[in-house]
Amino acid sequence: MMTMALTATTQAQTNEFKYNDERFADLQMLRYRVEGFEQLSLRQKTLVYYLSEAALCGRDILWDQNGRYNLRIRQLLEAVYTDYKGNRKSQDFQAFETYLKRVWFSNGIHHHYGCEKFQPGFSEAFLHKAVKEVEPAKLPFDIEPLFPVIFDPTVMPKRTNQADGEDLVLTSAANYYGPGVTQAEAEDFYLRMKEADPDPQHPIMFGMNSRLVKEDGLLKEKVWHSGGLYGSAIDRIIYWLQKAKAVAENDKQAAVLDKLIEYYRTGDLKTFDAYTIAWVEETEGQVDFTNGFTESYGDPLGMKASWEGLANFKDMAATARTEKLSANAQWFEDNSPVDQRFKKENCRGITAKVIVAAILGGDLYPSTAIGINLPNSNWVRAEHGSKSVTIGNLTDAYNKAARGNGFQEEFVIDEDTRRLINQYGDACDDLHTDLHECLGHGSGKLLPGVDADSLKAYGSTIEEARADLFGLYYVADPKLTELGLTPNAEAYKSQYYTYMMNGLMTQLVRIEPGNNIEEAHMRNRALIAHWVLEKAREEAQRAEQSQYRGHTDAEHTQTFFPVGQDKLVPAVELVQRDGKTYVQINNYAALRHLFGELLAEVQRIKSTGDFEGARQLVERYGVQVDATLHQEVLVRYRALNLAPYKGFINPVYVVERDTKGEITDIRVTYDEPYDQQMLRYSRDYRTLPYVND
Ligand code: ZN
Repeated sequence: MMTMALTATTQAQTNEFKYNDERFADLQMLRYRVEGFEQLSLRQKTLVYYLSEAALCGRDILWDQNGRYNLRIRQLLEAVYTDYKGNRKSQDFQAFETYLKRVWFSNGIHHHYGCEKFQPGFSEAFLHKAVKEVEPAKLPFDIEPLFPVIFDPTVMPKRTNQADGEDLVLTSAANYYGPGVTQAEAEDFYLRMKEADPDPQHPIMFGMNSRLVKEDGLLKEKVWHSGGLYGSAIDRIIYWLQKAKAVAENDKQAAVLDKLIEYYRTGDLKTFDAYTIAWVEETEGQVDFTNGFTESYGDPLGMKASWEGLANFKDMAATARTEKLSANAQWFEDNSPVDQRFKKENCRGITAKVIVAAILGGDLYPSTAIGINLPNSNWVRAEHGSKSVTIGNLTDAYNKAARGNGFQEEFVIDEDTRRLINQYGDACDDLHTDLHECLGHGSGKLLPGVDADSLKAYGSTIEEARADLFGLYYVADPKLTELGLTPNAEAYKSQYYTYMMNGLMTQLVRIEPGNNIEEAHMRNRALIAHWVLEKAREEAQRAEQSQYRGHTDAEHTQTFFPVGQDKLVPAVELVQRDGKTYVQINNYAALRHLFGELLAEVQRIKSTGDFEGARQLVERYGVQVDATLHQEVLVRYRALNLAPYKGFINPVYVVERDTKGEITDIRVTYDEPYDQQMLRYSRDYRTLPYVND
């Protein structure tokens, strides 16, 4: 399972590192920094380097999995790209270049997200003519069958077809099933296999690492392993894994690599399970990796796994931050605005695992995940647990890249607020996430006898709201400054502003006009923001009335409306300026008070299992969309013309050696252009023949 980045973040001016690279079609290329690599020991750097080589060696496997002509088409396009002698500024060539860049990005001829085949913006005649300039040795295969695959929209229109009622296997271009294999045949084949399982309590991941083909009318699996299908690529991966094993950080890590190598050699899925168990249980090392057939989103039947690779190491700074919070977990619990009855007597925080990606490979490149939760086998997860991590440097890169794209200028009310967000936005975002994950989810308790599932369908929204509110309440606490986690008493305001703006307005860019909010995290943000907005208005009205009556509610009025303020305005409101809607925060301290009030209420609902209370809160504040405001937000967002999809260019590891060939240091560089990286990968990591039948 993986988490994808969806947030349209508002951030500020970028520093010298260039997070944004080129843009084409619907894609924005980004770069990420391998923060902390210099601080690793030489042995660890070497381990990361070997694992990153192993992560790049499976690239061809994914290309072939995504479609049986992809490797040949890539070679054809790259040969034209490098050898073309005509006018590179011509419309045809420009369209050709965009097409190639999209094919590179998608690891094939279908859109990485939508799965539909790209329609070239250049003519078939142009490509025919351009091919004539290519050095013939570069194209050692018949190119004629490739033309309809590229140009005819009816040939292989979808990589992974999910349309109900069609034969999903026959109509998907993905190469997980051989020609002529039908969906019914494939389903029947694996059903029989499952029925014959001698150990149904511990089922292997049936069909995960093979192509199902028909030979002489009989179905059989071509397993991906050394000596089998994709064997030449797998042998190269094994080569680097063996080198990694020699510099492993501990014995357990070496044993994990050993199991993975054994699995790659045999293709045996029992060995794969043993490998994932060993991998889950190895938590001592700082360096870690993903390498292999992993996620099954690309198979229309959801069984066969695409190849991916990732080398990473634990983010020590982020880990230190979360350790600080965890060490003080009881203090946060004791001082929260929640009713005493619902508090935990013994509160232990969780240390969140934040990792730094060092290289992205296979199905994680260039489009990638920002969080990973593996393995996928249900029984292994139940009996041995899983590793759940967020990839900090990729999240950071998304945030930094969003600076200066006009988003903030469009949606943040004024220059002062923007400055606040520029200065503290990133740090407070991270901190809010830490508070949410390390303390929020773990805080509070159910009253005796309350069923943990009593909130049913509203459970996850309420749970996310609880964790978010815990974070919102405490991000403003002086305790954080005391712990050295926030720089000063102002910083939290950046988080309050962006949270309210997102919950009331900008998260709506992800909702189609006319739809309600469905996703639990989005519902929770809308719930919190709308509840607080309404309460702020009510408080202002109440205070104004009581003032006119001549006896003010001293405590409330002082919290919400500092003495001397002549007009009673709500703590937060939506205002109009030049025909546009903005969030305006008039009183941050009062806003914190309201977050605390809602936290107490949400904890009460959770602790007492108050289903009706949960239903009312979610349905009233978290689901509905104001159609007029939604329309306005969509129009303003579209006018920014931001690329809907993003992906990363990898860093390059430069290995320095002494005269005996021993590695003396490894440096990271970040300046390889996108096309050069793709061409280099196709040259240096060409691990498969052009045809893999
Ligand atoms: Zn959560």
